[in-house]
Amino acid sequence: MPDDFKICRACGVEHPPGAVVCDICLDERQFVPRSGQAWATLAQLAAEGVQTQIREVEENLFEITTAPAIAIGHRAFLVATPEGNLLWDPLGFLDAAAVSRIQALGGVRYIAASHPHMFGAQVAWSRALGDATVLVASLDRAWLARPDPVVEFWQDDVELLPGVTLIRVGGHFPGSAVVHVASGAGGKGVLLASDSISANPDGATVAFMRSYPNRIPLSAKAVETILHRIDRFAYDRLYSNVATAVEEGADAAVRASAKRHIGWITGAHDDLI
Ligand SMILES: [Zn+2]
Ligand SMILES: [Zn+2]
Repeated sequence: MPDDFKICRACGVEHPPGAVVCDICLDERQFVPRSGQAWATLAQLAAEGVQTQIREVEENLFEITTAPAIAIGHRAFLVATPEGNLLWDPLGFLDAAAVSRIQALGGVRYIAASHPHMFGAQVAWSRALGDATVLVASLDRAWLARPDPVVEFWQDDVELLPGVTLIRVGGHFPGSAVVHVASGAGGKGVLLASDSISANPDGATVAFMRSYPNRIPLSAKAVETILHRIDRFAYDRLYSNVATAVEEGADAAVRASAKRHIGWITGAHDDLI
């Protein structure tokens, strides 16, 4: 694959070859490593031994990661449906093995990221997968470092494929989104929540943050808005963009976690003596 772009090593987002700084990392939600801004091409990452890995986590849902992990270390998902597939939160690395495996699974009709930290090499993935449409939330278009004719902008809710709905929840970024998969979790519904709503390591609660690495919480109003926007979607399982999930009872877990978060953020809860 030609390297007509480069990847920010800290966040994994593709940039034009001449880029000097990564605005996504300069933002208060992310960080430029103290060692400084660093870039890599796909060829360099491959030479360092980076490879993609794909595994089915449940029927018609595939997790895509790299080994070793790069950048934020997030995972992408491929949602497979009879009407076409969605590539969600594309990684900042791809290789021929991943492309051929995805093509064998039916290819990709849409590529979408939950928010700019997860743009990855979205245009490169599109090129490798027959110019699949890359959907970017119009509210986050200013973060797009590599514009391209395959990019289309979207707002609010879009049912991309039957039973697969892109939902703008806001919060982490104005255009932050989740994907609802109605057929997921054996028909109980899945939320691919990325870090718009992030599953905690306990597997039973979630977090709502403006920044995860820099630990900036979302406001009570932002959390209430997220709950309101997913209210009409039934789901039982939630996958975040790292290796965490709430396997069952996710709807109740999200509500209870929101109540806890709002309690602390508003001062209704405290441990003051
Ligand atoms: Zn970056
Ligand atoms: Zn993020």
